[in-house]
Amino acid sequence: MRATVMFGAGDVRIENVPDAHLIEPTDAVITVTRACICGSDLWPYKTMEHTDSGRVMGHEAIGIVEAVGADVRTIKAGDLVVMPFAYSDGNCIFCHEGLQTSCIHGGFFGTSELAGAQAEAVRIPQADGTLFVLPVGKDDALMPSLLTLSDVMGTGHHAAVAAKVAPGETVAVVGDGAVGLCGVIAARRLGAEQIIMLGRHADRIALAREFGATDVVSERGAEAVERVRELTGGFGVHSVLECVGLDESMLTAISIARPGGGVGRVGVPQHELMPASQPAFYNNVTVSGGPAPVRAYIEELLSDVLEGRIEPGRVFDRVIGLDEVPAGYRAMNEREAIKVMVEP
Ligand SMILES: [Zn+2]
Repeated sequence: MRATVMFGAGDVRIENVPDAHLIEPTDAVITVTRACICGSDLWPYKTMEHTDSGRVMGHEAIGIVEAVGADVRTIKAGDLVVMPFAYSDGNCIFCHEGLQTSCIHGGFFGTSELAGAQAEAVRIPQADGTLFVLPVGKDDALMPSLLTLSDVMGTGHHAAVAAKVAPGETVAVVGDGAVGLCGVIAARRLGAEQIIMLGRHADRIALAREFGATDVVSERGAEAVERVRELTGGFGVHSVLECVGLDESMLTAISIARPGGGVGRVGVPQHELMPASQPAFYNNVTVSGGPAPVRAYIEELLSDVLEGRIEPGRVFDRVIGLDEVPAGYRAMNEREAIKVMVEP
């Protein structure tokens, strides 16, 4: 089968690889009908050391179940399913607590351990706990929004939950990528009254406003902090969604939280130390977040997608075939596209 293989920074190719197949009795194999390229795929795209074997990329997909192992009970061939970016058994203590990204039998797609979904097919470990059956046809008009339930919409929602967004309160979103834009949707959905988007790309800001951002701050650093203070009566915001992961964005996030506020971080941190330890301490700011347990959120977000209350699929501004995936990486890396959908 054909799949997207990254061999090193800037080196993404479509290759023939061995067909995805059942290995464990708890596995399923799905034919991928939709996949996409994630902002987090751009980190290895910028930094990965060259390897001869490469890594099959992709951790977001919708597909049709082709085969299930002998121990799979709730998923069957022919089901249309959404695949969260992490697999999980659905049974362990952490899954029961809604933290599937810490499943004791879990792991992540598109890593050196498990092939990813920017491919014609993908093997799904722990199929019963991982996959979620969608109640629509494979070419339903809502497919782009449904695809975001595998990562970016659930991740934006997680940032909002971790930041303790509540009705009537003030929120800032740091980062105008697909996750930040979904964070705006999530903040509005949870009842935030003022939503300040920190970003500087005109197309993304326009979409953020349509999603519910009430204010935009395009300055950076100390100037951005000053602008957010001006917009919030000098206090800062109750909740900050940190959707980037760089030192500068984290410093800004903590600096614009008001005393007693929360920062929900979902941007993968690119450094060992967390900045702004002292302002976080003196202002009693709670810093929370991590890899989003999107599997826990699919059900509640799904009804809003199906009933048209949220349209996170609007973050996709380009649709390509598998052969064009290397160009899709370039487009996202050069900020020519917000998020690229792949139809293998
Ligand atoms: Zn588990």
